Amino acid sequence: MTTVAAYAAPAAKAPLERTTIERRAVGEFDVLIDIKFSGICHSDIHQAREGWGEAIFPMVPGHEIAGVVAEVGPGVTKFQVGDRVGVGCMVDSCRECENCLRGEEQYCLNGLVGTYNAVGKDGRPTYGGYSEKIVVDENYVVRIPDGLSLDVAAPLLCAGITTYSPLNHWNAGPGKKVAVVGLGGLGHMAVKIAHAMGAEVTVLSQSLRKKDDGLKLGADHYYATSDPKTFEELAGTFDLIVSTVSAPMDFGALLSLLKTDGALVNVGAPEEPIAFNLFSLIGGRKTLAGSMIGGIRETQEMLDFCAEHGIGAEIELIDAAEVNEAYERVLASDVRYRFVIDAATI
Ligand SMILES: [Zn+2]
Ligand SMILES: [Zn+2]
Repeated sequence: MTTVAAYAAPAAKAPLERTTIERRAVGEFDVLIDIKFSGICHSDIHQAREGWGEAIFPMVPGHEIAGVVAEVGPGVTKFQVGDRVGVGCMVDSCRECENCLRGEEQYCLNGLVGTYNAVGKDGRPTYGGYSEKIVVDENYVVRIPDGLSLDVAAPLLCAGITTYSPLNHWNAGPGKKVAVVGLGGLGHMAVKIAHAMGAEVTVLSQSLRKKDDGLKLGADHYYATSDPKTFEELAGTFDLIVSTVSAPMDFGALLSLLKTDGALVNVGAPEEPIAFNLFSLIGGRKTLAGSMIGGIRETQEMLDFCAEHGIGAEIELIDAAEVNEAYERVLASDVRYRFVIDAATI
């Protein structure tokens, strides 16, 4: 076991504070990673405040981890000391079910092991990226290509793959009209990636406040959802809509913007259930779908794609001591577009 410094929430809704945690000794197939940067995801806040239900405390959040390999176990074949690597939302899964076998470990039928707020196969709680080091089985570690700086790569491990996977699965590309709902941490990545895939991209945001940013990030069009005229003008327009919003949305209204056979894919995770009229779905053979992160193979594919297209997250780098203030600003949508903790300050 190794003792490392970390920022943890001691209890639900309590502010995060500096503490120490134990990391397991490096096992045969483990990689010890010196964490360099850790992104702050909205789901860190949901979990630290028990918005999604009962959680495990103390909690060290963080599942957007970028760092450098410091040590490898004797059985490790994929990584060497000095490699630039990332860890996303999961650190293990059953490896035997149908979904694990086809590389969709995020949908492990026996339950994936979350990077934090979960219990590992050793029976101990998992602790996330707001810490100096982490030990992870090599099969749940991905390589960060040289062309990507580690700070802007960190948010790709959750925000990047969460948006890349549905864009990829529903074939965003040339000739496709794609709308991105919400221009936050997830949304800004969706815009960059959909644009790089060659789709015609529209941002649907509450207001036009971030319009200039949206166009710079690669959007072709930008509309305010607070303006009822938007829904008249864009009715029946899109092949694919990716909703990245974590607040309850009017899904009926969004479905009206799809073409026949279009798909509305939700990647946000509101704390409350929502209701909408099913007539908005059956008229036009529309699909309402969900999508959650991506598998390890697809996460690597996403990182390679982002490196090839020069895509990183837009970040605001902070010291670890600023994490509580950063949480408040995320809740107020006051970040452009992802906070990243400089792990050297932990
Ligand atoms: Zn996340
Ligand atoms: Zn499985």
